Amino acid sequence: MPATAKNVAVLGATGSIGQSALEVIAASSGRLRAFSVSGHTRLDLLSQAARDHGSRTVIATNRELADAHRWSGLPGGIRRLTGPEGLEAAVADPAVDVVLAAIVGAAGLQSTLAALEAGKVVALANKETLVMAGPIIQDVLQQKGGSLIPVDSEHSAVFQAMQGAKAKEVRRVVLTASGGPFRTWPVSQLSQITVSEALIHPTWQMGPKITVDSATMMNKALEIIEARWLFNLSAEQIEVVIHPQSIVHSFVEFVDGSVLAQMSPPDMKLPIQYALEYPDRLPGPAERIDWSERMTLEFEPPDPERFPAIALGHQCARTGGTSGAVLNAANEAAVQAFLDGDLHFTEIVPACRSVLESHNFEPRPSLSRLIELDAWARQEMNTWMLA
Ligand code: NAD
Ligand code: MG
Repeated sequence: MPATAKNVAVLGATGSIGQSALEVIAASSGRLRAFSVSGHTRLDLLSQAARDHGSRTVIATNRELADAHRWSGLPGGIRRLTGPEGLEAAVADPAVDVVLAAIVGAAGLQSTLAALEAGKVVALANKETLVMAGPIIQDVLQQKGGSLIPVDSEHSAVFQAMQGAKAKEVRRVVLTASGGPFRTWPVSQLSQITVSEALIHPTWQMGPKITVDSATMMNKALEIIEARWLFNLSAEQIEVVIHPQSIVHSFVEFVDGSVLAQMSPPDMKLPIQYALEYPDRLPGPAERIDWSERMTLEFEPPDPERFPAIALGHQCARTGGTSGAVLNAANEAAVQAFLDGDLHFTEIVPACRSVLESHNFEPRPSLSRLIELDAWARQEMNTWMLA
């Protein structure tokens, strides 16, 4: 391993993004090293990652599982940490160069913030963090000198297309969306959608929460809010277009009318590698476009009746304040209820809208207020379901 290896803290190493990141790291010829790895469940997989990568720190965030687990075969001298505090200690380690934030949901907020407080480079997959606390993250970035590199494929595309551009040259960004598995289903049948149907995505292999979010398009709503804070755009500057092939990952339109796109097959290894290696482009394991095959790329505007989540995303991007945290928590609770069989697929978005409308909006909430509202919105979702 070259002395110059970048030490990466892979948070959420047992998940879909985490496992793809470990593949990218393994293929980096020693340029990247999985210095720390974290996982909440599947601790065998976590141990294996630590062994395979010779990690120096392993963090099991679920304490009960960590205590019950028979840890064996870990690299000698490895630091074993538990709980959310373990994550915060691991990201602040001076030896860590880049933190890959790939924990799912609001559970990823504190460790992402802790990494930015420590002035680290954060490769951000956990969009929920920006949705909940965009302005707070912007402040910490400014005060502590850290940086945020997007991993979400659309935002990576925008970030790549904006390299070298001045902010005033950007007219708008157009986020692409596959449309998910139900893009062509009759709207009247959407209420019958089962959990197993919603967990099959036509172009991407992902964890269960984001797969359901892609089917409802709440994922695109969260991504509108993510783009608003990441690139400091107004809600009006962020548009969505349906692109079923998932080859163009987004567009940036400049003031002169020129549009730049970023294209590659749907494979998260590319945006992960770009974020970890930034600003360098290097050979890597991501799939490539096969130009010898005939290819058709389609684009169509999203139907607001089929995908009401998009309007909700624009609304929260416009209002800011507490709305992102409430929408995010309501959605996490609704997705869990759908997966548990307690909520119909078509109830997810209306339930989120109802929770959002019943909250007391505040324009400049503190972090502790956002965390309180996160808990409130989950409770409010339960009340909505009982009503
Ligand atoms: P996943 O469910 O496959 O993995 C989630 C990871 O988070 C696992 O390692 C799990 O152990 C850990 N985790 C779960 N609950 C936790 C908790 N309470 N505390 C600490 N760790 C916990 O999810 P994923 O699909 O890899 O998505 C991860 C993040 O990346 C999400 O925010 C998602 O929106 C974003 N993202 C994913 C993709 C994708 O292709 N999978 C694409 C873009 C963005
Ligand atoms: Mg995305």
